[in-house]
Amino acid sequence: MAAKVAVVTGGNKGIGYGIVRALCKKFEGIVYLTARDEGRGLAAIEDLKKEGLEAKFHLLDVDSLDSIQRFRDYVKSTYGGLDVLVNNAAIAYKVAATEPFAEQAEVSCRVNFIGTLNVCNELFPLMRKHGRVVHVSSSAGHLQRINGQEPESIELRKQFADPELTTPKLIELIDTFVSLAKQAKHRENGWPNSAYGVSKVAVSALTRIQQRELDQSRPGDDIVVNCVHPGYVDTDMTSHKGVLTIDQGADAPSHLALLPPNVKEPRGGYVWHNRAIVD
Ligand code: NDP
Repeated sequence: MAAKVAVVTGGNKGIGYGIVRALCKKFEGIVYLTARDEGRGLAAIEDLKKEGLEAKFHLLDVDSLDSIQRFRDYVKSTYGGLDVLVNNAAIAYKVAATEPFAEQAEVSCRVNFIGTLNVCNELFPLMRKHGRVVHVSSSAGHLQRINGQEPESIELRKQFADPELTTPKLIELIDTFVSLAKQAKHRENGWPNSAYGVSKVAVSALTRIQQRELDQSRPGDDIVVNCVHPGYVDTDMTSHKGVLTIDQGADAPSHLALLPPNVKEPRGGYVWHNRAIVD
């Protein structure tokens, strides 16, 4: 039987590193710590070694289609398939960031949403039966974060929550947000003032679409996609203000990565850091 393979994006630090560490302990197969920077990735592999844990490294910049496709080709030719994919890599501008909001909107949506989508588009064809996909979303990725009470916000929530929402339509929605942000008109059109939040709402919505589509295109293959809020975690992203350790933050994502065959739920779900399924 072919060796099982798990992949974590943005695995060199923070929650991603915690997820790699958890998978090294619990996943019966080969764990890939991927990172956009070779030096940082290899240093993380060395840190794991000091704990007696073994992960392999491969470069993967989720913001580069070329890098994603090179990784896909490598996985395909080396292993022929993939069993676990954890989309953890993301960026968040600090509150004090000086980049204009238009730029923050464009870059956050491109890296966090389009990057995740591109990784999925390239790697999903390699997912084996009982494959498990986890998108690390956020509490900011809950639909209620589009919280306005005006008709525009209500309509946006309706569109994101539509059970028939498709990926092209979702991309269109996010493109609209970015283009409105460039004109400083996103708020009057019902969008929140958080580029990170919108990028994560998109990731959460994508989760449901992907589960529905995989159930249709590969019925019986039991491929499960979920997204997760890892909790408020002590990492560089939170300027170390988070209250959970990276291992605590990795608990729910790694639990979802290791869901047993033919699990009934969560499937296409949004899961809280205590493993509870949230509407
Ligand atoms: P960190 O900033 O500590 O780590 C982010 C990781 O993503 C780093 O490894 C970073 O690499 C990597 N990354 C960024 N851009 C890319 C890219 N283009 N290609 C590949 N890797 C990239 O953040 P956290 O560990 O806190 O966050 C991990 C996930 O958890 C994110 O999805 C985040 O949105 C989510 N999250 C975190 C929360 C928290 O409290 N910390 C709360 C809710 C959600 P590099 O070192 O090269 O920059």
